[in-house]
Amino acid sequence: MTYFSRVKAQLQEYLSKSAIEKVYQAYLLGEQAHQGQMRSTGEPYITHPVAVVGILAHMRMDAETLIAAILHDVLEDTDTDKATIVKRFGKNVAELVDGVSKLTQMKFETRAQAQAENFRKMVLAMAKDIRVIIIKLADRLHNMRTLDAVPLHKQQRTARETLEIYAPIANRLGMHTFRLELEDLGLRFLYPTRYRILSEAVKRSKSSRRKVIKVIEKAINSALTRSQVPFEKILGREKRVYSIYRKMRSKRLPFSQIMDIYGFRIIVKDIDACYRALGAVHNLYKPVPERFKDYIAIPKANGYQSLHTTLFGPYGDPIEIQIRSIEMEHIAESGIAAHWLYKSARETASETQIRARQWLKGLLDLQQKAGTSIEFIENVKIDLFPEEVYVFSPKGAIFELPAGSTVIDFAYAVHSDIGNTCVAAKINRKLAPLSSTLSNGQTVEVITSAHAGPNPVWLNFAVTGKAKSTIRNYLKRLRSKEAIALGKHLLSNALPVALRKIPKRKIAALLESYQYKHIEDLYESIGLGNQIALVVAQRLIGKTTFPETLDTQQKHPLVIKGSEGMVISYAECCRPIPGDPIMGVLQENKGIVVHVEQCKNIEKIRMHSEKCVPLRWEDHIERRFDVDLQITLTNKPGALAALTSAIANADANIDNISLSRREGFYYLIYLTISVFDRAHLARVMRLARNTKMVVKIVRQKS
Ligand code: MN
Repeated sequence: MTYFSRVKAQLQEYLSKSAIEKVYQAYLLGEQAHQGQMRSTGEPYITHPVAVVGILAHMRMDAETLIAAILHDVLEDTDTDKATIVKRFGKNVAELVDGVSKLTQMKFETRAQAQAENFRKMVLAMAKDIRVIIIKLADRLHNMRTLDAVPLHKQQRTARETLEIYAPIANRLGMHTFRLELEDLGLRFLYPTRYRILSEAVKRSKSSRRKVIKVIEKAINSALTRSQVPFEKILGREKRVYSIYRKMRSKRLPFSQIMDIYGFRIIVKDIDACYRALGAVHNLYKPVPERFKDYIAIPKANGYQSLHTTLFGPYGDPIEIQIRSIEMEHIAESGIAAHWLYKSARETASETQIRARQWLKGLLDLQQKAGTSIEFIENVKIDLFPEEVYVFSPKGAIFELPAGSTVIDFAYAVHSDIGNTCVAAKINRKLAPLSSTLSNGQTVEVITSAHAGPNPVWLNFAVTGKAKSTIRNYLKRLRSKEAIALGKHLLSNALPVALRKIPKRKIAALLESYQYKHIEDLYESIGLGNQIALVVAQRLIGKTTFPETLDTQQKHPLVIKGSEGMVISYAECCRPIPGDPIMGVLQENKGIVVHVEQCKNIEKIRMHSEKCVPLRWEDHIERRFDVDLQITLTNKPGALAALTSAIANADANIDNISLSRREGFYYLIYLTISVFDRAHLARVMRLARNTKMVVKIVRQKS
C-alpha cells in the first residue's frame, strides 16, 4: 500500500486507466524525490501533494493538472529539475509545475491595501495557464487545513496571506467553495479567539433556529408545488463564520442581528424555472423592496449567476433566498474550475484552457456593456491581456509597469532622482544591463552614483512616458546649460572690450530687437550655433568691423577637454584626435562641431570666418577617440588575426571592422579603432606594420 491509494478510487470515478497510470508514475517520481522529507504534521512529505491531488480530483480536474499537482513542490524542494519533468510528462506539465513554483517563491511582505491588490494582480499575471492558479489554491487549501502543525508566527503569516491574497483570487475566479474554506481557516489562524467565540455562538443559535428553518422550508416546498415549479432541492443555508465576522465589521451590526436572517437556496432545472420559482416565493411572503437582484441577466464579476431576493418571514425576520439552476450551482461552487468538469473526452487540456479564458473574457465583455464593475475589468484584464509587468523593489514594494519595460523604466518609476543617477542594476541579485526587459516577479535593485546623469542612449530602450520625458527634460536642461556657457565664452571672445563694460541699455536694446527676455537666451542661441557671435558683437558695439577681433579669438582659442557634453561634438568625416590641429565650426542647433583643420568638408566654410571657432586640445585628455583606418593585408591565413592581436597589444579597441574586396594577393579592410591621441595611433600603426602582414596602413580623413 502506498499513499497513492488515498486518491486512487477518486481518480477511477472519472479518469481513464492510462491517465491514472500516468498520475501514478508521477506519484512514484514525487515519492522518490521527497524521500526522507517530513511535514510538520509528522507525516511523510508526499502525503501533501497527494492530498492536493485529492482536492483537485474532487473538482474533476484533468490528468495534466493532477500530475503537476503531485510534482508541485519537487522543483522547489528536491533535486528534480524541469528537464526531467519535460522528458517524462511533457512540456505542459513541466510549465504548470514551474508556474506553481514561481508563485510559491513569491513572498508577500507588506500589508498595504494597494500592495495586496497589486500582489493579487501579479499572481494572475504570472500564470499563463489558469490551471497554475487552481493548483496553487488547492495547495494553499491543504496547507491551511494542516496549519495546526506549524509554529505560531508562521501560522499568522500564512493566514494573513490567505485572507489578503488567495481568498480574493479564489473569489475572482468564482471558486466559491475554495474561498469560503480559505476564509474560515484564515480567520481561525489569524484571530483564534474571535473565531472561537463566533463559532460557538453560531453553534448555540443553531438549535434555536432549527424549528423556524423547518417551518419556512416546508412553506417554500408547498408554494413551489402549488405553482407547479419543478425543483431539485431546497437548502437551508448555514452562515459561515467569516462572513458573519465581515458583516459585523463592515456593517457594524451586532451578532444577533446578523443571525436573525434566515438563508435558503432553491436549486431548479433551468433558467425558466428560476423565474417561476421567484414568482412562487414572492407569492408566499412579501418581498422586501429593492432587495431583488437578477444576477442571471447580469452575472456577477466572477461569473456567479443566481436570483437573490429578501422576504418578510412569518416571524418578522427577513429571509434571504437564492434561486439558481444546477449548472449555475456548479459554477457558483467551482467557478473557472467548473470548465474542466464539463470537458468532453476528446477535448485537450489547452482547448479547455481556451474555453475557460473565453468564459472570463465573456464576463469582461458583459461587464463592459453593463458598465457595473470597473474594478473587475481592471483586475481581470491583467489575466486576459497581459499588458503589465509586476516587479519588486528590494524592500518588497510592488511596481506595476507596462509590459516590455526595462530596468531604466523601473528606476524612473521609483523616483526621478533614482533614474537620473542610476549607473547599474541587479535583477534577482545578479548584475544586469539597464536595458534588460523585466518580467513578472523579479526583484530589481538600482545602483546609483551621485555624479551620474542620464545617457541619451537610454531613450532607445526606455518604454514608459515618465522615463522618456524625464530623460529628455534632463538632457534638454543640460544642453541649454552648456550652450549658455559656450555662448557667453564665444561672445566675450568676439568683443573687443569686456562684456561687463558694455552699457546695460545697449544690451537691453539688443535683447529687445532679438525678442529675447534674458541675456541667457542670447547666450544659448549663440552656443547652439543659431546666432553668430561676431554679428552680435558688432551690433552691441555699433561698429561694422573691428579688426582686432580675429586676433583676440586666435589668442584665446577655446580649449577642448574631451569631456564636453551636448553642444560640442566631433565630426564623423575626419574624426579628430588629440594632437591633430583642429577647427570648430558652428552648426545650427548643434553648437560646435570639431573638425581636423585640413578637413575637406570645411574648406568652404573657412571663408566665412565668423562661423569658425579657433580651438585647441587640452594637454591631458583621458578619453579615447575613434579613428578610421584603411589597411591592405596580405591574403594569407592568419593575417587578420595577427593584425587584430597587434592592435589589442597596442591597447587600442576595435569598434568596427569591415572586409572589402580581395585583390589577388591582397585584401582591403576598414577598421574603426579608438585611441587616446596621435602618439597612441602612431604606436598602433607601427605595431600593425611589424606583423609583416600589413602592406599598407593609412588613417582616413573624410
Ligand atoms: Mn505545497
